[in-house]
Formats: sequence, C-alpha cells, structure tokens
Amino acid sequence: MKRNGNMATSTHYDVIVIGAGPAGSTAAAILAECGRKVLILEKQKFPRYSVGESLLPYCYYPLQRIGALEKVQQASFIKKYSVQFASIEGQVSQPFYFFEHLKQEAAQTWQVWRSDFDQILLDNAVEKGAVVMEETMAKRLLRRGKCNVGVEVKVSDGSTRSLYAPITIDCSGRDAFSVKRNGWLIRDPKLNKISIWTYYRGGLRDEGYDEGATTVAYLPEKGWFWYIPLRNDVVSVGITAEADYLYREGKDIQKIFNREIGVNRWISKHLEPAERIRDFRVTGEYSYRSRYCASDGLVLAGDAFAFLDPVFSSGVLLALSSGEAVGAAVEAAFDAGDFSASRFKKYSTTLCDGIESMRKLVYAFYDDAFSFGRIFRKHPDLRSDMTDCLIGNLFRNFERLFKAIGEFAEVPEELNYGGPDTHVTELKDF
Ligand SMILES: Cc1cc2nc3c(=O)[nH]c(=O)nc-3n(C[C@H](O)[C@H](O)[C@H](O)COP(=O)(O)OP(=O)(O)OC[C@H]3O[C@@H](n4cnc5c(N)ncnc54)[C@H](O)[C@@H]3O)c2cc1C
Repeated sequence: MKRNGNMATSTHYDVIVIGAGPAGSTAAAILAECGRKVLILEKQKFPRYSVGESLLPYCYYPLQRIGALEKVQQASFIKKYSVQFASIEGQVSQPFYFFEHLKQEAAQTWQVWRSDFDQILLDNAVEKGAVVMEETMAKRLLRRGKCNVGVEVKVSDGSTRSLYAPITIDCSGRDAFSVKRNGWLIRDPKLNKISIWTYYRGGLRDEGYDEGATTVAYLPEKGWFWYIPLRNDVVSVGITAEADYLYREGKDIQKIFNREIGVNRWISKHLEPAERIRDFRVTGEYSYRSRYCASDGLVLAGDAFAFLDPVFSSGVLLALSSGEAVGAAVEAAFDAGDFSASRFKKYSTTLCDGIESMRKLVYAFYDDAFSFGRIFRKHPDLRSDMTDCLIGNLFRNFERLFKAIGEFAEVPEELNYGGPDTHVTELKDF
C-alpha cells in the first residue's frame, strides 16, 4: 500500500484531494482507478473519530461503484432497515421500512463506527493507487494568476511543503478549507441549530428488523433526539435543537442532556439501564452552502461544499455521491485538458438539486404544521415519493411531493448560488 505517512515522494500530482472522509476517499478512488496520480492530504492520523454514523440505503451505489461495498458488508456494522419517529409521550410511528419500497439488497443499510468506515474507504483509495499523507494539514491554496495550482501543507514535524496539481478537490468537511479562506460561506439562517451528543452502553434495543433502526425522538420547540444503535451494545445519542431552548437554564452540558432525557418518554425508557461511556460533544455551525462549488483548478465536494441539518442522516450519502460525481467530472476535465471552473457547471447543478430536495424536507420537518401522518392522509399516493427522499434517492424530481407538503408547511425557495465561479478576477495568493 502506498501509505506515505507524511512524506510525499513527489511534489507534482495529477490531483490533490484535501481530506480523507467519505467524499475525499471516494473521489480519490475513482481517479486513481482511472490511472491518475492522486495525493490525499489528511490532517489527522487514521483511524480517527467522526460523528455521522447512520447511513441511508442509497449509500450502497457509490460504495459499489468504488469497489468498497463488500468490505463494508463484511465489517459487521449493525444492519439498519428502517427509521422511526417517537413522540414526546413515547408513542412510536409506524417505521419506514426501506425494503417495503426498495426491492433490492440496497434496502438494508448500516449504522457504522465512522472511524472504521472511513478507514475502509481510505484503504480502498490507497489500494487503487492513491497516495495518502496523514498528519498533513493543507494550509494555503497556491495560485498562479487566477488559477489554483496546488496546496501548501504543514507536515507533522512543523515544516511546510508546496505540492502541485492542475486540479485540487477540497473535501475538508466542516473545516470548509477553501470556503472559509475565500469568504464563500453562506449560512442557512432558518436551520441554525446546535447538537450535543455522547455514547451509552446497554441502552434498550427493539427486536428483529427494528434492532438497528434509527429513532428520531421529538422534543418541544422542534428539537429532537437521535438514537443510533452501534456495534458492541453502544448507542449514539444526541440532541439537535435551538440554542435558546437548550441553554434556557444555563450552559452545563451534562445537566442539559439529562434534563432533556427526562422530557422524552421513549428516550428515558431506552436509556434507563444504560451507562454513559464517552464525554459530551457539542457543535454549532449548522447548515451552510458555499457561494461557489469551483474556481479554476479547484472544486469542492461533501461538507466542504455544503452541510445540511442531520435530521434525515443525509450527510454521508451526499459526501459519497458528490465524491463519485466530482471524480467523474475531474476525469472528464483531464480528457478535455481543461480545469477551468466552468467545467463543473453540470456537477454543481445536479448536486445542488439533490441537496435542495433534502433541504426542503428538513424545512418541512421543522415546521409546526408538518407531520408525515397529515401528508399521507391527504396524499396516500405520495408515500413512495417521501420514502425515496428518506432513503436518499435524491437525484430525481420531487415536484409533486413538495407541492403537497407546501399545502401544510413552508417549502423554501431554492438557493440560487453554489455554481462555479466563472468570473474570477485576479486572486491574491493567500
Ligand atoms: C451532529 C452531527 C450528526 C450527524 N449525523 C449524521 C448521520 O447520522 N448520518 C449521516 O450520514 N451524516 C451525519 N452527519 C453528517 C456527516 O458527519 C458528514 O456529512 C460527513 O462526515 C461528510 O463527509 P466529508 O467527507 O465531506 O467530510 P468529513 O467526514 O468531515 O472528512 C473531512 C476530512 O478532512 C480532514 N481535513 C479537514 N481540514 C483539513 C486540512 N486543512 N488539511 C487536511 N485535512 C483536512 C478532516 O480531518 C477529515 O478527516 C452528522 C453531522 C453532525 C455535525
């Protein structure tokens, strides 16, 4: 395996990928398989922790495309067949069983430890020929005129090096490396929540197909818990809500978490026999999209381009799908010998359309007037469209579904940015 620690043997590559999460490793695998000389820069040492354990069925297809599916199937992750919703009083909705809608192997997905899952994807990219430099932080984009030509990195001994490629793919996750440096970050003001989460051992699990279900358990003021069963009797449990709601009596995270457990009967019952085994983690910075998805010699994928509230577990799917799509778009750019921003117009249009479908559903979820029951009672024929959204079949037309949802809840206007930056004037080297 070409695992180079933090010493790249060369300074010139075909492609530099920043970040070895699902987006970066997927793009790298595709391009390495095409015979491109790919360098992945990763600031951490793998395996590394990441939140985002609950996958959607449509992750199956990009995993299959990059040849990682079998490795994921063999990794003994918990099998996930459904998602269900629990009211504050503890009543559970009829689960959405993915196999009722999707009559394929893909209907069963997984609850993964991301340290293991991301390692599988990185190893897969390396097996296909990508070189990875771990503990190597991208510090600065290198520019010639208005074109990105490489990345300055800091390696673990503190020294810096300049590495060059005609195209850099930024997959740096919520660090949003280029977005923050270019001033491209635009927050979604209505989806400005925070999350607090931790891990328990010994929480109750339902039986049979429901054992590995994701449960979304409601809190007042449109807050919610996630309850994600993982391997070794561990559950990932987190809250997403408005800061004003969570911090209404102070900022002691443990007190807040325990108080909210008491608010939802399903959660309090399922955690009664459990013991907390990890510290709490907190994050804000919810839901943003970059003003641009590309400039000359640079293109963005995964959370480095856009992040959406995690209520429907769409993050890893969007990372894998955008990694796959950007890999194909960059390969086409090689064929054309053109790495200008405008090459990535179709990539960004398709990606933004998929993100918009999920964003509309997330908006509806947070609208007081929305409930799955209300929609299905009036429009039973739309259950299949809704399930398509929930399983991650996002890259199709949902006009009818959102028209119907619009009868009950706010459906936002589509964001009119996120395309390539085709008007770049002379950029400063920063
Ligand atoms: C609270 C919360 C809960 C979530 N729950 C779910 C869920 O249940 N299901 C789901 O699908 N998604 C979930 N997500 C979203 C999911 O975590 C992300 O969408 C997904 O990890 C994005 O993958 P990525 O490859 O874009 O980025 P990441 O997985 O974040 O990978 C980015 C990589 O880039 C590296 N990096 C960053 N900056 C640099 C740099 N300057 N130089 C070198 N390397 C760098 C990082 O170390 C990291 O390894 C959740 C997110 C949050 C915040």
